[in-house]
Amino acid sequence: MDLNLSDADREIQARARTFAEEVLFPLEIPLEEAHGDLPAETLAEVKRKVVEHGLNAYNQAEEYGGQGFTILQQILCQEELGKATSGLWGTVWRPAHPLRQGTDWQIEHYLKPSCAGARRGCFAITEPGAGSDPRQVKTSAVKSGNGWAINGEKWFVTALDASDYLIVHAHVDGDPDKPTLFLVDKDTEGLEIRRTPKFSHTYVFEHAEIVLEDVTVADEQRLGEIGQGFELTKEWFIEARLEIAARCLGAAIRAAEIADAWATERHQFGHPIREFQGVGFQIADMAVDIMATKSLLYRVAWELDREGDPKLIHARASAVKLQASEMAGRVLDRAMQVLGGRGYMRENPVERLWRDVRVERIWEGTSEVQRAIIEGQIRKRGLGLYSGWV
Ligand SMILES: Cc1cc2nc3c(=O)[nH]c(=O)nc-3n(C[C@H](O)[C@H](O)[C@H](O)COP(=O)(O)OP(=O)(O)OC[C@H]3O[C@@H](n4cnc5c(N)ncnc54)[C@H](O)[C@@H]3O)c2cc1C
Repeated sequence: MDLNLSDADREIQARARTFAEEVLFPLEIPLEEAHGDLPAETLAEVKRKVVEHGLNAYNQAEEYGGQGFTILQQILCQEELGKATSGLWGTVWRPAHPLRQGTDWQIEHYLKPSCAGARRGCFAITEPGAGSDPRQVKTSAVKSGNGWAINGEKWFVTALDASDYLIVHAHVDGDPDKPTLFLVDKDTEGLEIRRTPKFSHTYVFEHAEIVLEDVTVADEQRLGEIGQGFELTKEWFIEARLEIAARCLGAAIRAAEIADAWATERHQFGHPIREFQGVGFQIADMAVDIMATKSLLYRVAWELDREGDPKLIHARASAVKLQASEMAGRVLDRAMQVLGGRGYMRENPVERLWRDVRVERIWEGTSEVQRAIIEGQIRKRGLGLYSGWV
């Protein structure tokens, strides 16, 4: 078994690290002080640097203007970006996976400009009554002339402020057996932003609440077939869950490194604090947690690159997301404890990462939903899916 990264993998990892350290890290404090509101010219400059570093649309094929990274390379990249606080990783755009399944027209009008950075999309599925259970979605799409009239309400629409179109998950004729995706331009009449609430984390973009009232789109803006909505997003969730795991890993590594250095530097009672077992053991636990998560994540990414059975990979992606997001919570909490009062200051990256990683246990399927998937898979396919090697 070859566990070495290739030269190309290492080059991408180094490039993403340089970008995170040189472009994103310097923005962390200004972003925190501005409560998540960076000036438009700063965001435009970041965008330019994303392209300069060859990181735009790294998840999409070169034929569409993306970087064509393998899954493992995407993970290496996201791990480095995840070290930056306050969701700054979100400035590196990754056009939505289902756009690849689009028609030629959709690829020309949405995917290609999104890869180049000329357009950006966001995803709207969650509603007041539909979170973990998307069958409860009330947003409906009804045939209207040659197109569709969409009515409903969507919550937590991340990065709507940075986007000019949305991928809206609606039920055709209000039928939960016909979940369907629609490409909706943000300036379409009838689409209104109701609220942009504040959240625990300071985040580079907003999470908006929107209302759609008789929003009319052409049939060519329907993404995939009627009823194919879940299928398209399920495939996307595999990558999204691995990317979350990669960010959690990056955040945990940065925090553990800061805590490790501090445990040597800080002296109390005449000793470096790491010499107290209560501190040293916390560092050991952080290291083991990180190592276990990294091994699991890289292995599943490697499997996905080899196009293993999608059902097995979906099942394992849930395990990776659960492990990594819970691990990040533990590591960030320990790192803060090792840092003492300094770890609780917003100017400290550990404090910001501590707030940042909390949502990783909630979005893209909560920890409980991941456990339900894993347990269901064990019942269906046996424990060996997780405990066996192949
Ligand atoms: C900052 C942020 C950004 C987001 N961005 C987006 C976005 O861009 N687009 C989008 O569409 N959505 C987005 N979301 C929504 C996110 O995906 C949902 O919050 C998530 O799916 C959980 O849904 P919910 O909040 O309605 O919680 P609920 O589904 O109401 O769950 C509440 C609690 O019940 C538990 N629970 C529910 N069902 C089960 C079950 N079967 N078994 C055990 N426990 C269960 C949950 O685990 C949780 O603990 C975002 C959320 C946040 C916080």
